[in-house]
Amino acid sequence: MRVRTKLHILSSSIFLIFARVNTKPMRHLSVLILLLATAVGTACSQNQAAANEAENLVASRTKDLTKTINYGHRPVAKRDIDVVVIHSTYYLGPDSFNIDGVLKQFKRYDVCSHYIVGRDGTIYKTVAENNVAYHAGVSTLPGTNRKNCNSFSIGIEVICSPSQGPTDEQYNSLVALVKDIKTRYTINYVVRHSDIAPGRKTDPWQFDWKGFNQRLKEE
Ligand SMILES: [Zn+2]
Repeated sequence: MRVRTKLHILSSSIFLIFARVNTKPMRHLSVLILLLATAVGTACSQNQAAANEAENLVASRTKDLTKTINYGHRPVAKRDIDVVVIHSTYYLGPDSFNIDGVLKQFKRYDVCSHYIVGRDGTIYKTVAENNVAYHAGVSTLPGTNRKNCNSFSIGIEVICSPSQGPTDEQYNSLVALVKDIKTRYTINYVVRHSDIAPGRKTDPWQFDWKGFNQRLKEE
């Protein structure tokens, strides 16, 4: 909104200057500039609105558990992040989609992701983004020689199983969460665990990768 206001003031000033020149071509030029500024301003506002929408959805669905999780990650002074890794997980016990079971399992193996998306779309924030979380293991970013993806990525686990894929609410939360992360970092790669550890990992399971990527591109 602020960008559009500035552009309007700028273009209106130009319009007034050209109007005083009082020649037809100049007037045409100033009208053109005004229209262009309006179009750019509208596009900026739409991008901003989409970012706000994602931010609001994430904020309303997030439960911060970072203070209670003392495993599966380590603090680092500073790190560069340009990758998001999508996983899926479930608890190998009764009530397999329960967050407590998933966390109990993570603790046992000293692993964790930065976020876990529950079946109802709740976003559990488990590790602060600036910390290195142990979610990827032995891994290489496709098309590069960059290994150990944990050091430069944010990991998101979606609770589902090899036979039961994510729910609609999980997709909604995941799309908003990745869009929200993109407002904080320049993310060059959104990849699946199976992309960075082929032959070793098969998750995320039953996942509409094409549809998800399409939604990431939409405003
Ligand atoms: Zn995984």
